[in-house]
Amino acid sequence: MVAGFRSRNLGGVSDDELLVRVDQDLCTGDGLCVQYAPEVFEFDVDGLAYVKGEDGELQLAAGVTVPVPAAAAARVIDSAIECPGDCIHVTERSGKAVAGPDFIGMPQTPSRLSA
Ligand code: SF4
Repeated sequence: MVAGFRSRNLGGVSDDELLVRVDQDLCTGDGLCVQYAPEVFEFDVDGLAYVKGEDGELQLAAGVTVPVPAAAAARVIDSAIECPGDCIHVTERSGKAVAGPDFIGMPQTPSRLSA
């Protein structure tokens, strides 16, 4: 479990295991993810979205992955599902895709899980 984050279960996916990264090469800069989860995503001056570390600092290195805070897990997954650039990758710590371009299957959104 990531220190300081409260665990919650998302239909078999424990959100204390989730990691997220953004592929800036495909980011359209529309800002959906920043609206959904501003504690995780933020624009840099280049107009592209980046993930933020646990200290709130933008992570500008290519391909950098950060832990998903438990409180933001559902919104981060929704961001990945709805991202128009298809460039938000949410995975378990094992590397298994949970949402985003590498995920195969029904997206595990809270709305679908509660249906
Ligand atoms: S939702 Fe996707 S395409 Fe839009 S700003 Fe965020 S990462 Fe970029």
